[in-house]
Amino acid sequence: MPVDCRHARKVVVSNSELRSSDLSSAKARNMRTVNLPDGEKIPTLGLGTWRMGEQAEGRETNVHALRFGLELGLKLIDTAEMYGEGGAEEVVGEAIAGQRDEVFVVSKVYPHNASKRGAIEACERSLRRLNTDRIDLYLLHWRGGIPLQETIDAFEQLKTDGKIRHWGVSNFDTEDMHELRTLSNGVSCSTNQVLYHLGERGIEWDLLPHCQNHSIPVMAYSPLGQGTILRHRAIRNIADRYYVTPATVALTWVLRNPNIIAIPKSSDVVHVREIAAAMNLELSDEDVSDLDQAFPAPQGPKSLAIL
Ligand code: NAP
Repeated sequence: MPVDCRHARKVVVSNSELRSSDLSSAKARNMRTVNLPDGEKIPTLGLGTWRMGEQAEGRETNVHALRFGLELGLKLIDTAEMYGEGGAEEVVGEAIAGQRDEVFVVSKVYPHNASKRGAIEACERSLRRLNTDRIDLYLLHWRGGIPLQETIDAFEQLKTDGKIRHWGVSNFDTEDMHELRTLSNGVSCSTNQVLYHLGERGIEWDLLPHCQNHSIPVMAYSPLGQGTILRHRAIRNIADRYYVTPATVALTWVLRNPNIIAIPKSSDVVHVREIAAAMNLELSDEDVSDLDQAFPAPQGPKSLAIL
């Protein structure tokens, strides 16, 4: 059955509630959090890094955008060994320098590197590029040919060695999530990162309810639809109502479900500010219903959309 996520929940946490990361800036007081399955609270809104680090040009701008996001309380950063073939992880390493303990760092291993030995070596390369001693959440980027059990074994080893703190998956459909839970230590999966935005709501039918039932947060990638949905009249009307921008509205909508984390990407500080504004906006039932009309919820099962 589809999940009903019409009602936004606003959770304001005190700094002392935020465990391993000391998210101590004053801005973090407004930060909503989501619980990982082990109870650790992590920020619901962070920044992505796809397309960063692909060229030397623009590197400073990207570092600056991520740092500005951190100042505004966007204390989760998502990256991957794939992005810029390691270049994005280097950008993240530079952005978090001097404030590592305040940031929740997510990275991903390529499926072809996700064997027992391959994942451990890939993680060590990522750690060097990130210039840190641990990754907070390490994901299998998508499902490939290597048996899942091998990847889980590598992740568990990395956890034991203190190189990662949690592991999860990305682009896993409901069937994949069921299968994961049948494997040894499969229940330790801490998140599933999938495509989710107003224009792509398929996960609401069964994947999102499945993850909610098992207390696994869903991390929404491309939550702005890569910018394509932002010109839509329904989103713009609501943005005008609150004197905010369409990006802020689109993100607030994604975050209306308390089990979701969103990781929009921006290299532009003005856009980063608009992203951060989603921490303080709440949509009314009328707004949500207007958006439902313009972007209908799924009426049946649909295979997971992947970028
Ligand atoms: P997105 O966040 O939906 O959209 C990014 C685009 O929106 C960029 O072109 C950005 O341009 C623009 N934008 C950002 N803020 C804006 C604003 N306030 N107003 C107008 N435009 C704005 O798409 P995404 O980068 O594909 O997804 C986000 C992150 O998810 C990625 O960076 C990556 O970390 C992750 N991801 C994961 C997977 C996976 O397979 N696991 C796949 C795709 C993405 P500017 O930079 O100019 O602001």
